[in-house]
Amino acid sequence: MPKIGSHVSFSDKGLLNAAEEAVTYGSSTFMIYTGAPQNTRRKPIEEQFIEEGKAVMEKHAMNEIVVHAPYIINLGSYKEDTFELAVRFLQEEIRRTDYIGVRNIVLHPGAYTDKDAEYGIARIAEGLNEVLAGVKDTNVNIALETMAGKGTEIGRSFEELAEIMEQVEFNNKLSVCLDTCHIHDAGYDIVNDLDGVLHHFDKVIGLEKLGVIHLNDSKNPRGASKDRHAPLGSGWIGFEAMNNVANHEKLQHLPMILETPWIGKADKTQRPMYEAEIALLSGNLNGRFGGEFLDHVERIDFLLGKKEIHYRDFVLNTWELLKNDAKAKKADGREPLERLYDILHEENLFSDLSEEQINQRLIVWLAGKDILKKA
Ligand code: FE
Ligand code: FE
Ligand code: ZN
Repeated sequence: MPKIGSHVSFSDKGLLNAAEEAVTYGSSTFMIYTGAPQNTRRKPIEEQFIEEGKAVMEKHAMNEIVVHAPYIINLGSYKEDTFELAVRFLQEEIRRTDYIGVRNIVLHPGAYTDKDAEYGIARIAEGLNEVLAGVKDTNVNIALETMAGKGTEIGRSFEELAEIMEQVEFNNKLSVCLDTCHIHDAGYDIVNDLDGVLHHFDKVIGLEKLGVIHLNDSKNPRGASKDRHAPLGSGWIGFEAMNNVANHEKLQHLPMILETPWIGKADKTQRPMYEAEIALLSGNLNGRFGGEFLDHVERIDFLLGKKEIHYRDFVLNTWELLKNDAKAKKADGREPLERLYDILHEENLFSDLSEEQINQRLIVWLAGKDILKKA
């Protein structure tokens, strides 16, 4: 059974809050930012309900969780103040991570801005050397995240991560976070050749260096260098490929974290699909949702079948249309999942269900019939 969870909130009562939220989704792991990802304001970690949170984790057999460093850290910057702030703040984050007892802190390696990739790689390695020299007494690994390659970010290929690692003295303290959306957007074909991609990773970096998996579908085709996450099954990667990652025998020991967007028509009604996504990937649909839910999915399948809407064709054709036909996109920019929701809404299929409940059923429908047969 894979260890699957999602990004959860560390606000208010810190780890207690985070663990309790993770429980509501049926998670067996989770990921937190120790504060707002966009800034460096942090409450003292001693006040973040660590013991209380750990008690909840223990009760629900969550033995490994993940911390994500904030985006503002850029070790690739040539600007002295940006670089120094990044080094100092990352060290503080590592100390907080160590205090919680977490093994991996995920880090976006950095961006080279006005310089070039070679400069960025060397600068990031310089920063990591400085950071690690100052936190030798901790047990935390820095998990360099594979990136989509938007803008000037480093980490868009396994080779770039390997180059950084080669230039870092204490690279036994470096691991890797593999993000499915990012590597797909960077050009790796995890849909048709997951084993080939993992083999390549093994050759260039070594599978033993993997510390964390991020499970996200993508709103863009392979190689687009974009980095926009989609709920599982609603993007270009598709549920089957995501399921292959989550249940791959070589990845079972790793914490797997969903960073899929919350969905809903209005900002206020947006809800995460984590519970359905986790139940699907861990083969626990029945246990989590029970009979009526699955009947609803059958009804969706019947209705959309009558309209000759095939789950995978519909998603891919809609994304193709939005990508290639600017006029059509301008006339109707709705993404596949929203269009499906609107069809069900027009047909008044589930007048007593909330938007969130309908979307959960759609996420399960988007996983395909095989999953239902197994449920
Ligand atoms: Fe990330
Ligand atoms: Fe990620
Ligand atoms: Zn991303």
